[in-house]
Amino acid sequence: MSFCQFAQYKTGERLDQAFPSVRMAQLFYEFLGRYKEWRLAKLQVMIGTVILFFLGLVALLIPWFLPRVGVFVSLVMLILFCLAIRYYLEVNERASHLYINVHILHHHLSGKLEVGFCDHHEPCHCVENFRGFALQHYRISFDNGFLR
Ligand SMILES: [Zn+2]
Repeated sequence: MSFCQFAQYKTGERLDQAFPSVRMAQLFYEFLGRYKEWRLAKLQVMIGTVILFFLGLVALLIPWFLPRVGVFVSLVMLILFCLAIRYYLEVNERASHLYINVHILHHHLSGKLEVGFCDHHEPCHCVENFRGFALQHYRISFDNGFLR
């Protein structure tokens, strides 16, 4: 598969200016895949936090508002709370794991941008083009070691 085919296959658009080689494109799309998984995991952690907070609050407050059935509802809520904790710990671990993965790949790509991103000997715009592409299409910055 040639580079242009690869780029089209991945995005369905023309990206021939963004990557100097298939290898760099593959590295970037590997990073991008992990990055998207990480963003999703972060979202799940956030949802888990909200669910935990909500269930905990309801379990604590409902006996005050509904004295008759409150204790029973409270117990059910506590069981759900325990299940939610398990979910939260799972996604949290996954997010941490992906965070490390994504940062290693980001660091690797940033390093490539510093030295040897392309094979040109004369001054070229490969690095600029790539930075612009990542920022414009995915809002990912390779200007510093920082990743959101
Ligand atoms: Zn170049």
